[in-house]
Amino acid sequence: MAASDSKGYAGPTPSLIVGLRLGGKKAAVFGEGASAVTRAVFALDAGATVVLYTAGSMPVTLSKWAEAGRITVVAAGKYVAADLAEFSVAFVANADAATAAAVAQDAHSAGVPVNVAGSATLSDFALLPTYRGAAGLQVAVTTNGVAPRVAQRLLKEIVGRLPAALEPQLGEVVRLSAAAAEAERERQAAVSKLEASGAEGLSVEATAANTPAPESVGSAADHDEPLVDLSALRSGSATEADVQSVAAYAAHALSDLCFVYAAREQTLGAAALAWSRRAEKNAFGGWVSALRMQTRAGAGHALWGALASGARVAAIASAESLPLMAPVLAELAALRQPLVIHAVAESLDAAGEAHADYADALAALQTGAVVLASATPQEAHDVGVVAHAVAAAAAVPVVHVASAGDRVESVRAIGHAQLAQFVAAVAAECSGLAVADAVDAAFARFRSDFGRTYARFEYSGSANAETVFVALGKPAAAAVLALPSLLRDAAATGVLSVRALRPWAAEDLVARIPATARRIVVLGCARDATADALRADVALAVLVGRPAAAVRVGGADVFGASSTGIAAAMREALGLAAVEVEAEGQAEETIEKTLEDAPKDAPELNTVADPLDIVRRLAFPEAFGTQLSARPGERTFNVRVSSKYRMTPDSYDRNIFHIEFDTRGTDLHYEIGDALGVFGCNDAESVDAFCTAYGLDADAVVTAARDGEQRHTRSVRGWLTNGLDLFGRPSKGFYTALADFAVDAAEAEKLRWLTTADGAIEFRDRVADTVTYADLLLEFASARPSFLRLVDLIAPIKPRHYSIASSAKMHPGSVHLCVVAVEWRDSRGHARTGQCTRFLNTLRVGDAVVVSVKPSVMKLPPLDSQPVIMAGLGTGMAPFRAFIEERAVRKMQGADVGSMTLYFGSRHRAMEYLYGEEFEAYHADGLLTNLRLAFSRDQKEKIYIQHRMRQDTEILASQMLVEDGSFYLCGPTWPTGDVKDAMVNAFTTMGGVKPGDANKVIEELKESERYILEVY
Ligand SMILES: Cc1cc2nc3c(=O)[nH]c(=O)nc-3n(C[C@H](O)[C@H](O)[C@H](O)COP(=O)(O)OP(=O)(O)OC[C@H]3O[C@@H](n4cnc5c(N)ncnc54)[C@H](O)[C@@H]3O)c2cc1C
Repeated sequence: MAASDSKGYAGPTPSLIVGLRLGGKKAAVFGEGASAVTRAVFALDAGATVVLYTAGSMPVTLSKWAEAGRITVVAAGKYVAADLAEFSVAFVANADAATAAAVAQDAHSAGVPVNVAGSATLSDFALLPTYRGAAGLQVAVTTNGVAPRVAQRLLKEIVGRLPAALEPQLGEVVRLSAAAAEAERERQAAVSKLEASGAEGLSVEATAANTPAPESVGSAADHDEPLVDLSALRSGSATEADVQSVAAYAAHALSDLCFVYAAREQTLGAAALAWSRRAEKNAFGGWVSALRMQTRAGAGHALWGALASGARVAAIASAESLPLMAPVLAELAALRQPLVIHAVAESLDAAGEAHADYADALAALQTGAVVLASATPQEAHDVGVVAHAVAAAAAVPVVHVASAGDRVESVRAIGHAQLAQFVAAVAAECSGLAVADAVDAAFARFRSDFGRTYARFEYSGSANAETVFVALGKPAAAAVLALPSLLRDAAATGVLSVRALRPWAAEDLVARIPATARRIVVLGCARDATADALRADVALAVLVGRPAAAVRVGGADVFGASSTGIAAAMREALGLAAVEVEAEGQAEETIEKTLEDAPKDAPELNTVADPLDIVRRLAFPEAFGTQLSARPGERTFNVRVSSKYRMTPDSYDRNIFHIEFDTRGTDLHYEIGDALGVFGCNDAESVDAFCTAYGLDADAVVTAARDGEQRHTRSVRGWLTNGLDLFGRPSKGFYTALADFAVDAAEAEKLRWLTTADGAIEFRDRVADTVTYADLLLEFASARPSFLRLVDLIAPIKPRHYSIASSAKMHPGSVHLCVVAVEWRDSRGHARTGQCTRFLNTLRVGDAVVVSVKPSVMKLPPLDSQPVIMAGLGTGMAPFRAFIEERAVRKMQGADVGSMTLYFGSRHRAMEYLYGEEFEAYHADGLLTNLRLAFSRDQKEKIYIQHRMRQDTEILASQMLVEDGSFYLCGPTWPTGDVKDAMVNAFTTMGGVKPGDANKVIEELKESERYILEVY
């Protein structure tokens, strides 16, 4: 089974969770931006000293550690493989593919455990930093076949940093199943404890009025009084409160059992614990049992057990707990269990500052739970209340993602009596409604009862917006705040706040975005931009919902930014001049960097494919317009090779081969004279060699769209073998584009120079030398466009056409070609081959090929009795074989077929008399009236087809001018003029055409489609 964590890890399910004890050890971090900084902070948190190899500057966030000598920043270019030996662990994040692959390779060789963000294949372990602190950093290790040797080393080196209950096993490896069993024991213990404290605690409804308050089960740390005044909140008067307190208020008021999962933040849920201790009643008049739980693998089992008792259950959790709760949450969603989790989304930076961080919260997206988001304390209160109403009404788990922060605001809470009424009213209204409708109904009822408006998507701004920012939680609130100032400078702007992340109403989202929108910028809200599920969801919704409109979906990473930082990022995205914002260090730096990088590294809509997205598309092909196609966007047929043989002797330097495809079971139909389009694939070995040299993971799955095309999902190998002309000729535009990526100034300059008049001669030599895209990319090694960019930059493989050499009447269910392999040597003596003929030549009987049919002007005349004169050179006689076969069938069917004359030319009769035996037989039979052969090199003087034509003046003149015959020339272009002269000669000498009129006669024949050329 594959696992996908919110940090972009997708790979085998982690089989072990262990701790990395890094105290006093050295960790290497490679990469740039927030992701790399986060990893550095993890390692620093865990006691390591860190060397950050980065192409960027020293992030301000890390300066405190730098002063303490705990972190050194080294220019990425200075890294050498030998350095790695001194490290205990390596992290790679947000580095280019080549660096990631190289570092992973070096780490593997040196036996240093490595984590590469977003790549399960390169990683030895997945980073699940649920616990971090002085004693270590928790990670998950995948031992199922992924680098087992290094995993062994990792296990030996590390000492587990595990939850307290598992401490006896410190230093050992704890299997997930053991952790789950432990969680189950803990659940049992918690339930027993509750039962012992008064059985009524579990069936509050029935006995609430008469039972004593349950004893506190909280820890000593919970005995502080909450800052917020409960009676003030209950009274409905304006009260100063922060997000955590109001979330606690909703949880306490609307549940019987309230669990607190605080991964780190001891004040989280403190209010609910204190109110429970003080035997404060909930909105239903019952007592609330509040319990502090530990966050660990299998967290959430206690919720399950509590739900089984029939109690109203809520949890207050730090969002970091959600990935660990996700499995339980998914099962509760499947079982339709009502539950509310108020998940406070934040992460602390090295300076101890809290940032709204949705990376972990997004783990709830795939569980089937309803997911709602809020930003301010007032919103946290209101949405928190709606969450309870939806959970009760629709019997479903609801995750309310609240943005943390110390901001204390005046909140108008809803008193207990009204709360109970509201929940009951929503339950009555929503009976039998689908979950999505229940969410809508709850928001509508909230508005009518309390006058504050919420919806699954809330749009603010211009009705004719060209640019729409999409965001959730805190970034959404900040974006709405920034809107008035933006509208002054850029009228056509809007903000779409996402309130309900699940159920995801893609159509609703699209409907809310003004039809005028041409650009959508998703404000990234996760510390690791690659894990930003919101952007993927929005891109997909727009792609499906506005297929015809040219809407570009992009992103700006505002993780960690303050409100002013977010406003600045929006201005940047709109191309507006920056307004003065107070210096906020890394936040601004990150935004700047992201915006700067965006055109290079994040082409709109090109993404590393989300496996879940692929599953969705395969499961619901109609909804997503999914097509499975080897060559998307073309009318193609999958055929198989049924026969293939070389027509020229092995000793001969030209390889001409006959190949047949079985078309049975396909809709492929063709007419005489049509050409077959063959979609040749690049050589898989050469592609793999390129991937290795360039540092690409050939197995990574990528969804991308070339300009204006539909999106296609393929592996990197698939893109390079079937889609992109990697070994084809790069245009000048590619040289220029590559120059923009070159880090090395000299390389950039050289690439640009090659496209100028001064560089024309070298450019021409390169073309003569058949330099390919792959050659160029490897030659200019400092230019490393990401693969997503390569999809845009490299031209697609075009099909090559081949005249069909068979008659469908004679060979039903089959199509034949006659192909000459294109082979040559470049100036360095390297053997080169044509893209498609190489592919065709490697095919074996049974191999599958994708083909299309291209109609042609090479048609037999309308009447069987009209004469045909055919002139073919080499493989140019392919369509004439089809002509002859067609007439043979017509003759067998009793038709009166007219005269057929074939001029065939090649070098040597012994080597290249293609289909000679067949032609001789038709000639003997009388079907092929005249067979004229011209083997240019079999005698001293060169004899070409035009020479043979000059010997047939009478036939040519009478058949073309008197008998309504048709003439065809097929093959290379060079004899076209001589052939025409031979025809003119016949017309003037035997046809009575005046020399001055001959050209006109030829033109008239062409007009009436009786003088037809197919030369290539
Ligand atoms: C209507 C029609 C019918 C045809 N019928 C037949 C037929 O019956 N039989 C047949 O054999 N052919 C036929 N052809 C020709 C065929 O379509 C192909 O053009 C031919 O097979 C070569 O394709 P390829 O992919 O192997 O070579 P390509 O890869 O397209 O190479 C072709 C040439 O391009 C140049 N080239 C390639 N790469 C580079 C580079 N990186 N830099 C600079 N130059 C480069 C080389 O000079 C090479 O010779 C027909 C063409 C047409 C239009």
